[in-house]
Amino acid sequence: MIHDLTIPIHEGMTTYPRPWHPYVEVSQLGRHGIEGRETRKLVLGTHTGTHVDAPRHFIPDGETIDNIDLHNLYGRCSILNLVNTPNLSAATTEDVYRALNGRPADRVILRFDWDKYLGSNRYYEKHPFITLGAAQLLIDRGCVMIGMDTPMPDSPQSTDMAVHKRVLSQGAVLVEYLCNLKSLPTDEVFDIVVAPLKIVGGDGAPARVFAIA
Ligand SMILES: [Zn+2]
Repeated sequence: MIHDLTIPIHEGMTTYPRPWHPYVEVSQLGRHGIEGRETRKLVLGTHTGTHVDAPRHFIPDGETIDNIDLHNLYGRCSILNLVNTPNLSAATTEDVYRALNGRPADRVILRFDWDKYLGSNRYYEKHPFITLGAAQLLIDRGCVMIGMDTPMPDSPQSTDMAVHKRVLSQGAVLVEYLCNLKSLPTDEVFDIVVAPLKIVGGDGAPARVFAIA
């Protein structure tokens, strides 16, 4: 079965409340009956909706999204059940170790079931995250992709974005704003496909993400 883990992109959707992230605009240009076809103009950010952070997002000479090794974006993936992590708290190294339960860590998804708060301020202000040690554990096990159903792996109160920087500086990518993780088997390994737009020099890009489980 194929599971779509992507949030819908539409006008009026909530976006990260910072001036360096734009509001989404979708305007129709071509119309049936007039131009004889439908086309639309999109205004998106590189971090709109479900998206990939390339190393360049926080690392000045880091790899850009058009040059990410596709191995980072496709292959076996383990989902880590961290739904018991309290709001505004971190899943620790031990939590992540336990959730991994001996499975490979090449690609992992952190499941908090936080997508239920999509569209609210709470989604951005109270989300759980992981400790730097937990991120390091995954990196040490060869992780090249960390996905999550929250806006980011750092605390909403973080000013140094230490987890982002640790992961991205190792050449791994982050996949943020996933949804629908409940539909996936928690204790198995499945294939994931993460397909970001190939934006030349991009620090990240919106992506369609699906799992075959
Ligand atoms: Zn991002």
